[in-house]
Amino acid sequence: MRASSILLHRAAICLSLVGFLFSVSAAEKPRIKVMLLTGQCSRYHNWKVSSVVLKRELEAAGIFAVDTVTSPPQGADMSGFKPDFAKYDVVVMDYDGDEWPESTRKAFTTFIDDGGGLVTVHAADNAFPHWPEFNQMIGIGGWEGRTESAGVKVRWRDGGMVVDQTPGTATHPPKHDFLVVTRSPNHPIMQGLPAEWLHASDELYSQLRGPAENLTVLATASADPAKHPNGTGMNEPMLMAIRFGKGRIFHTTLGHVGPRDNEATAAVNCVGFITTFQRGTEWAAKGEVTLPVPSDFPGTEKTSVRKP
Ligand SMILES: [Zn+2]
Repeated sequence: MRASSILLHRAAICLSLVGFLFSVSAAEKPRIKVMLLTGQCSRYHNWKVSSVVLKRELEAAGIFAVDTVTSPPQGADMSGFKPDFAKYDVVVMDYDGDEWPESTRKAFTTFIDDGGGLVTVHAADNAFPHWPEFNQMIGIGGWEGRTESAGVKVRWRDGGMVVDQTPGTATHPPKHDFLVVTRSPNHPIMQGLPAEWLHASDELYSQLRGPAENLTVLATASADPAKHPNGTGMNEPMLMAIRFGKGRIFHTTLGHVGPRDNEATAAVNCVGFITTFQRGTEWAAKGEVTLPVPSDFPGTEKTSVRKP
């Protein structure tokens, strides 16, 4: 062997050793245990499709082990529905349906209070209007009988979050592309994301109401009522972080999947949705975010939607 080829040989051994060590450390790092809780939704949504998309997106991040837990169907006996929350780091809620038994509500509240994570996706914030602890966890919610008595609206005005007591209950304009504006750039979920990005074809949830305690607004969006029916013209919270006891909650209002939508529907395949969902789930579980911002993250001019 000539000196140069010996050097090359040594370099190759070094590189493969680094690769080996890297793969060992990646394999040894325990995956974040996620319970994806689904099984019921209103007639405006489609849990059978959304739950499959959400599971795929979490698994694509490479740091989660996801179990799907499916509730009994709407109207069925719920008394035996007792998911083992304590086995998991975080629960991702893709559920809007029948009330859970008292013992299941208690177990869930204890799980979050003791430091468990929760991610609530789109219409999951319609669920359980009469469960006070759940409303504290999600901060604000909509529909299913939530009137003004459900609590305050949350707005972003003059550089800060304000609560709004004025009348008005949940609504949204028809699906359209809209700008999402980062409001808490130093929050772990938001670090490195652009100040504004164009989200693809979604319902812009507006006038949600709730206790709004221990709530940080991460991002907002606004719909001009002159252009969009049901637009409020207000900076409506789209992404939020909430504390409940020792628990962390990531609340994304984004991600509409309708009854006739399929797995390719744009709202949940928008790279902005995927990235904030993955990072929000990591944060809710661990309190930190290691997942990077991908190079195909949308800018302000054009949406960026991945094909499933
Ligand atoms: Zn929807």
